[in-house]
Amino acid sequence: MMMYQSTRGAAQVSPMQAVYEGMAPDGGLYVPTHLPQLPYGDWAQGTFVQVAQRILSAWLPGFDAAAVLQGVYEAFDTPQVVPLVQVGPAHVLELFHGPTAAFKDVALCVLPRLLKAAGQQLHPGTRLLVLIATSGDTGSAALHGFSGVEGIRALAFYPSKGISAVQRAQMVTMPGGNVAACGIQGNFDDAQSGVKRIFAAPISADVRLSSANSINIGRLVPQITYYYTAYAQLVRQGTIRAGERVDYAVPTGNFGDILAGWLAKHMGLPVGTLICATNANDALDVFLRTGVYDRRRPLARTLSPSMDILVSSNLERLLWYACDGDSAYVSDLMTQLAREGHYAVSASVRERIAQDFVSVSVSDAQGLMQIQSVYRQHGYAMDPHTAAAWAGREAAQGNRPCVVLSTASPFKFPQAMAQALGFAGIDDTVDAAERLGQALGQPVPVSLSGLGQRPVLHPDVIEAGDMDDYVRRMVDAW
Ligand SMILES: *Cc1c(COP(=O)(O)O)cnc(C)c1O
Repeated sequence: MMMYQSTRGAAQVSPMQAVYEGMAPDGGLYVPTHLPQLPYGDWAQGTFVQVAQRILSAWLPGFDAAAVLQGVYEAFDTPQVVPLVQVGPAHVLELFHGPTAAFKDVALCVLPRLLKAAGQQLHPGTRLLVLIATSGDTGSAALHGFSGVEGIRALAFYPSKGISAVQRAQMVTMPGGNVAACGIQGNFDDAQSGVKRIFAAPISADVRLSSANSINIGRLVPQITYYYTAYAQLVRQGTIRAGERVDYAVPTGNFGDILAGWLAKHMGLPVGTLICATNANDALDVFLRTGVYDRRRPLARTLSPSMDILVSSNLERLLWYACDGDSAYVSDLMTQLAREGHYAVSASVRERIAQDFVSVSVSDAQGLMQIQSVYRQHGYAMDPHTAAAWAGREAAQGNRPCVVLSTASPFKFPQAMAQALGFAGIDDTVDAAERLGQALGQPVPVSLSGLGQRPVLHPDVIEAGDMDDYVRRMVDAW
């Protein structure tokens, strides 16, 4: 039976425990003791669910993959789940057709079912409360994913002034009796430290706390699927022959999405270069170019907010692989990062990483220009995160076919789109997506239309200091 261990230690746990715990007790992230091998083959020409099932079974034995995936992707607005569309010279993989129009749906539809199955097996009768601190996209995708899942409740804390009207509306109107959202008078960091405080002092003996953060292996594994199905689509349409390498350009924040691509490559998918695109928050870009990670810099607020991040947690897993599983080494680096705010890796680790990645940092101005020129030349409107990946593809100038991962619908960022395309009268309001739809002459995704007319189910806004009480009251009333 395949086991998991922490990137910072040797003790082993089962796949179910790895998913249920989310993070190892020593602060490390769970990785499988050996990487499953799944060379590309005709099997990858199956439906998205069939391919996902194959990957889930290889990574998470012990779960009933077929049951977990049953009907999951029916909430997507296309049967292909993640369509690959040709836009001029590039192949754009649209990951945003899920129920909240963000790529996080692909994994956050699956994680709650994994958690439920693991909980039933490992701790029957225990209730699970999932706490989320969100600056936007994760909150609505997570609440949607957990909505209606028995035995689990999910609560998202968001900065009441720090998110867009569309993002807020998506959360405060989310139906499902077991999910809720609550605004914090403060910024994202206040919400995040509040959640950490609650985790540090557990609230009740028979309610366990969990997180939906992308460090959970259960959020990483479903994402491996779209690297395979995109490759399969390129083979099917005759762009490549099976076995030829393909590059992938990925808009990167916490390093989860692109790490799934790296895992696919090392499982046997013919991936060439992984192009890591960051925005002005370029700690990761600097690391991939120099081997020095330095978080001692201010966090810039950009037009691609889901990539506004200083510490990319999932990088720890790549480091573990690049040093051949030397947990003591990884542990040292992470301690340095926490204490001093920076670390430098050895030359051999740096070389190993450079074999698979190139990286680029894309400013807001470059992103806006990219959106405009692609729209003018090809009539295709892409969101600011996707624009960073597109710019990355151009900067890398590879001669292989390149898949650009598109992580959000442009209708989630109407103001930035209006700025790029010169549309007037699109402000930060709940009906901004509709206005953008009119300006583009394109239909708005169902998940984002009519937000202003939906009933507000979660109106609460509280002081950051009251988060503990708020959670306690929720647990008492459960
Ligand atoms: C979360 C997110 C990203 C970054 O993905 P990571 O897995 O954190 O690297 C990119 N784009 C969008 C729209 C996102 O929501």
